[in-house]
Amino acid sequence: MNLSDSVTSLKYVSSSYSEKLDRLGIKSVKNLLTYFPRSYTDSSHIDDIYGALIKFKDGVEEFTIKAKVDEIKSIRLRGGNRTLQNGQVSDKSGSILIQFFNQPYLTKALKYKQEYLFKGKIKQKGNQFTFYPTVFEEVKEEEESIHLGRISPEYALTAGVTKKWFRNRVKQALDLLKDNEIDLKELDNIDSLVKTNTIVEYLNELHFPENEKTLAKAHDALALLEMADVHLKVKNRLSKEIKKYEKLDIAKASKDLKTILKQIPFELTEDQNQVVSNLVEQLQDKKLINCLIQGDVGSGKTIVSFILAYIFAKQGIQAAILVPTTVLARQHFDNAKKLFSFDKDIIVDMASTENKKAEKSNLLIGTTAIIHRNEHLIDNLGLIVVDEQHRFGVTQREFLLNNLKQKKTPHYIDMTATPIPRSITEVFFSDIDVFSIKSKPKDRKRIKSYLVPSNKRKDGYRWIKDKILSEGNQAFWVCPLIDNSEAITSKSVKEIYTDLKKNLPDLKIEYLHGKMKKQEKEAIMKQFSENKFHILVSTTVIEVGVDVPNATIMVIENGERFGLAQLHQIRGRVGRGSDQSYCFVFTDDLPEAGSEKEASDRLHYFVSEHNGLKIAEFDLQSRGPGEVYGTKQSGIPNLKLAKLTDLGLIKKSKSLAEKAYNSGITEISLFN
Ligand code: ADP
Ligand code: MG
Repeated sequence: MNLSDSVTSLKYVSSSYSEKLDRLGIKSVKNLLTYFPRSYTDSSHIDDIYGALIKFKDGVEEFTIKAKVDEIKSIRLRGGNRTLQNGQVSDKSGSILIQFFNQPYLTKALKYKQEYLFKGKIKQKGNQFTFYPTVFEEVKEEEESIHLGRISPEYALTAGVTKKWFRNRVKQALDLLKDNEIDLKELDNIDSLVKTNTIVEYLNELHFPENEKTLAKAHDALALLEMADVHLKVKNRLSKEIKKYEKLDIAKASKDLKTILKQIPFELTEDQNQVVSNLVEQLQDKKLINCLIQGDVGSGKTIVSFILAYIFAKQGIQAAILVPTTVLARQHFDNAKKLFSFDKDIIVDMASTENKKAEKSNLLIGTTAIIHRNEHLIDNLGLIVVDEQHRFGVTQREFLLNNLKQKKTPHYIDMTATPIPRSITEVFFSDIDVFSIKSKPKDRKRIKSYLVPSNKRKDGYRWIKDKILSEGNQAFWVCPLIDNSEAITSKSVKEIYTDLKKNLPDLKIEYLHGKMKKQEKEAIMKQFSENKFHILVSTTVIEVGVDVPNATIMVIENGERFGLAQLHQIRGRVGRGSDQSYCFVFTDDLPEAGSEKEASDRLHYFVSEHNGLKIAEFDLQSRGPGEVYGTKQSGIPNLKLAKLTDLGLIKKSKSLAEKAYNSGITEISLFN
């Protein structure tokens, strides 16, 4: 048998069982063995019957005992089909009555004089003590017990699969492994990496641990391998060598850089300067640019892409700046046109599905969707900038680069305001230069943020109205939904729009959402940026990139429905000018319990913290990478043992992966 063989090759895995296992993602023996326990129960402490009775009098309720069956019989209860199974068990210290309810098969299953482990509660009636076992396991001479009298695994199972059955299958597979009836070639390579124990021993230990210490050791070893596998995947992804790309005339580039810097109406911050000069240096060294620029919202990333685009365009090499929404594309287009109006050479174009080919332009601005829909629009690009990459696009980048029809690989810049914890950059961007723009333009103030419970809603309205009327500022008002939905009780754009119209009759209010026509959206955005109305109620379409410096108030409805990184993005739409800005997070009342408590903790943290990176770390810690980044879009796998927040592990596994790679191991097959 091989590890990759179907689970049906194990005993007692019928087709109906294999369907159920399939629901858990278990198809092969290997899948079964890497379906790790989510927790353990420790029943390793065994009492004798006498000792259990003494402890019971001291208030202890639950016991594991090891005893022989003296008697077990079934009686039918009067008036019905229900039965009781009564009997007695004993060990050297004494005996005790046992009782089960409605399990007549036990008269056969429990064998006379056979020794079992039992776990359950003792109850007292008068002078009578009765033991009510909920679990039992036969004690066998040559075999270790797996359910009782030890640390036993607990798995996340599905209907129709009992934990006893599942543990037995895992045990069976492990025994086959140990007896070498499963071909271990797949694991031989890995064994050479883990020196102290074999993988089989570690697997055995993780499912059926000897003690806490050995369990921790096995866990760490396997987590290390799992993380090493992630590194190897990244390594494999990147090993494709890229030879063809545009190499720029560097003297000209330096000259053009000076020209464009003179045209920009402000001085670059130190970090902006650093990124620009670093990238120009790379061009100087004839390197392919492949980088990620991260910086808080409003830190001034966009201008960096304009500068680079200008340098390319001036050499007759087409550059494209891609953004997630048409609203943002329009805004970038307008800004770029304004900035480059001094130079007749630069033709800026909106790349939409309508204009079929934008050959003549040397700066193309559009949404990322054009890559999917209209590949012919871009077939000779020297530089691609993907701006406001909200979910950073490991996958998107690969897709993009693989789908271009052109012969040369473009230089590539990703820009994101979603701060990426260091642990993640270390793993997933090991091949990419990561730049951070930390310093904000000089005159920026910290955005004052508040959590507003529902009983303060009206006060909030009043405050906002006064502020807008007295100081001429504008407000964004973000809702999770467009329409009211019966399934989800969250505020919708239409509901809030109607509510605000009624409650704030002195203010001009408009709304915006993703389902509106492109022209409508653009028109509304334009009017808003020209200060034609006060409040823009919208969905998160305004989440990314939109720049309206006069908007200084951000209201977020149902804050609990957003992730922290996303809230931070939304908040970043204000605080772009020199005026003091405010963010109000309206929430429905959050009880102090369970997941809701967690939501409330997150929101409290959010209003008190303004450092995007810290917020991202908090988000990653409290919700895990799958929730925060979405495993599909980001290309971050669901890890079983390893933690993406564990920097120590990441470091260790990286050097392990290095060693593995050099000795010809390209994957840790156990986790694939
Ligand atoms: P980001 O893309 O990082 O969210 P933007 O590039 O949209 O930020 O910049 C936010 C605002 O700050 C814009 O209005 C931009 O013109 C302005 N800005 C950018 N860099 C500077 C700077 N160095 N000094 C002053 N204002 C700046
Ligand atoms: Mg931007």
